[in-house]
Amino acid sequence: MDTSLLKGLNAEQLAAVTWPPAAALVLAGAGSGKTRVLTTRIAWLLDTEQASVHSIMAVTFTNKAAKEMQHRLGEMVPYSTRAMWLGTFHGLCHRFLRIHYQDAGLPSAFQILDSGDQLSVIKRLLKGLNIADEVLAPKSLQYFINNSKENGQRASVLSANDVAMRQLVQCYQAYDDLCQQEGLVDFAELMLRSYEVMQTHANIRLHYQQRFNHILVDEFQDTNNLQYRWLKLFAGDSAAVFAVGDDDQSIYAFRGANVGNMSALMRDFGIDAPIKLEVNYRSVGHILTAANTLIANNEQRLGKNLRLPDESANAHGEKLRFYWADTDFIEADFVVKEAKARVQEGVAFDNVAVLYRSNAQSRVLEQALFAAGVPYKIYGGLRFYERQEIKHALAYLRMAVHPQDDNAVLRIINMPPRGIGARSIEAVQAVAQDLQLSLWEALLHLATEPKNRKLIVFVELIQNLQIQAQGLDLAETVQAALNLSGLVEHYQNAKGDNQERIDNLQELISAAMAFKPDEVVLDEWASPDTETLPLVAFLSNASLEAGERQAGEGEAALQLMTVHAAKGLEFDTVFLTGLEEGLFPSDYSLQERGGLEEERRLMYVAITRARQRLYLSAAQQRLLHGQSHYAMVSRFVQEIPEDVVQALSSGLKRAQPSLKTREEPLIKAKSKQDSFAGFALGQNVRHEKFGVGVIIDASHKGEHANLKINFGKNGIKELNTQFAKLERV
Ligand code: ATP
Ligand code: MG
Repeated sequence: MDTSLLKGLNAEQLAAVTWPPAAALVLAGAGSGKTRVLTTRIAWLLDTEQASVHSIMAVTFTNKAAKEMQHRLGEMVPYSTRAMWLGTFHGLCHRFLRIHYQDAGLPSAFQILDSGDQLSVIKRLLKGLNIADEVLAPKSLQYFINNSKENGQRASVLSANDVAMRQLVQCYQAYDDLCQQEGLVDFAELMLRSYEVMQTHANIRLHYQQRFNHILVDEFQDTNNLQYRWLKLFAGDSAAVFAVGDDDQSIYAFRGANVGNMSALMRDFGIDAPIKLEVNYRSVGHILTAANTLIANNEQRLGKNLRLPDESANAHGEKLRFYWADTDFIEADFVVKEAKARVQEGVAFDNVAVLYRSNAQSRVLEQALFAAGVPYKIYGGLRFYERQEIKHALAYLRMAVHPQDDNAVLRIINMPPRGIGARSIEAVQAVAQDLQLSLWEALLHLATEPKNRKLIVFVELIQNLQIQAQGLDLAETVQAALNLSGLVEHYQNAKGDNQERIDNLQELISAAMAFKPDEVVLDEWASPDTETLPLVAFLSNASLEAGERQAGEGEAALQLMTVHAAKGLEFDTVFLTGLEEGLFPSDYSLQERGGLEEERRLMYVAITRARQRLYLSAAQQRLLHGQSHYAMVSRFVQEIPEDVVQALSSGLKRAQPSLKTREEPLIKAKSKQDSFAGFALGQNVRHEKFGVGVIIDASHKGEHANLKINFGKNGIKELNTQFAKLERV
């Protein structure tokens, strides 16, 4: 045996890695080595020949984590592990359905819908059913459908006691019918469909239950109900399930994740007690103190300890750095400047991450990075493939393999504009409706009449593409789609600066060149036609792939992502941006039961991503979704003990307020000492209608004053002290 594998593990880790082939749950805090234990266990099982690459399934939480695990394994075992079933739940389900598409009742070229696509299918469906948005909001239906699927429920088993529920259930059914007809599979469907195949096909179930004798799951606290049942089905009676997780990092309750799965696992698989790891190897002491103190504010905890490996003085490392910017633009500039300085100090760009609570916040950061010429990559949120121009190009490619896709037809029938107006499209839809055809079939039908000149041009274009696609490799096919469609030309001639869109389209060719279909084709179940369709795999991957490619492949780049996407990862330096009330914790979360505790766990995840240096930053004024917001510093910043934080001054304008005063809402301009009819800037007041707010600006108005007050979710109001009843709080 390669004993170096086990070197350096502490006693608890060693016990976990070499746990006998029986179920186990490792329950431990951030940075305690859970993922390392899981990866090392796989290597150890292989090395000691207790398992083969074929008999192991490993589930990670993100594609990036899967790639990293693959990479680490590559360093630990002397042969390729690419054939191993290692990936995210969705990735593995996708792999499963590609193999068993016939048993699943899917066309071989089924296509994955990301959540944006799903919403447009739903909108189209509701329109077809003549249901107005006010009667049933598309987003509500989407939520209902996904939630039902995540609970393993088809429309047919849902009971409807009232009119509203009946409508939801009917629409759910109609949606599923539509997807089935068009060969579309949404994310939740990937899980549910593969679960159902396993459940109903004894031969397939037995095959996998015999095949996998080790199933390992990282980030187990975030599995939902269906995922847990899915795991149980794959495990059967004999596979050893090895799960690692941290209840303090459970951040997907809003998507149905269920910490209760930890106790279910212990009960269902006869685990007496979880294995605990209590030493944090990732972060320096001050960062650890910040994380531990913060999370102690949560009441819903299983309770764990985390300590440093040794108590030597320099183990505390640097203090956290807090920066309070006037605006989000200044905050972004600060991040860029500091990140560059950090790189000067010898830290690679890859080892520096910028985190934010919601995707929309990346734009300002991106702008600043772009202006400074700093290479960066965005993870999570399917950003690259969500871009309009990329979706257009993908729709053309989709038409090359599966023209029954009505969504794709609607997206490109007049994009670039070719004179097919709304009327003509309605006419095509009417024919499809009358003759029970897909839009593409209706088009073929209409194209037989010479008068439909414009439709004929479109049909010929697609047919041409279909023919070309058969003789070309993947990258050439993408190139052909770009040429034939005229998309690039369209953006060249369109108003405004479209260079970025054109670059993105070119980038799609690079993506195709770099694309490696996974090992589906090597699997014993693979049917010949899956093998011939790298384009299908590429399109599916576009929906699944979370990595973006602003920076070239392999080029060192600053890492940008949401906190959710950062789970499980670690970086030398982390910038935690947008730490404002209303943003993090988000307004929305505060209205949900348990929402604040979930946000705090998210903050705990964020803090514990950093190894050496952690920046915290916030902006007083931020432009978001086209509106200016004024905010107070996040309560989470205030929950971190002051003695582990250093407040930075901006050096740009004036000294930043010290942390000591940060409980005071921070405000722009004017002096806090000034009195405006007895009120002061930064003061908290209560209004009978708008609730509690903070005074962010004021001016004298005779003996009274005009006050600008931020009432949080009720918005910013300008009120006059003469008329408004304001109470000091
Ligand atoms: P998270 O909860 O954030 O996913 P984790 O528990 O999975 O964290 P790992 O990512 O496995 O933690 O480990 C954190 C860091 O500590 C890694 O860099 C890992 O290599 C290192 N590490 C883990 N165990 C040891 C050890 N025994 N000696 C030295 N370094 C270790
Ligand atoms: Mg981990």
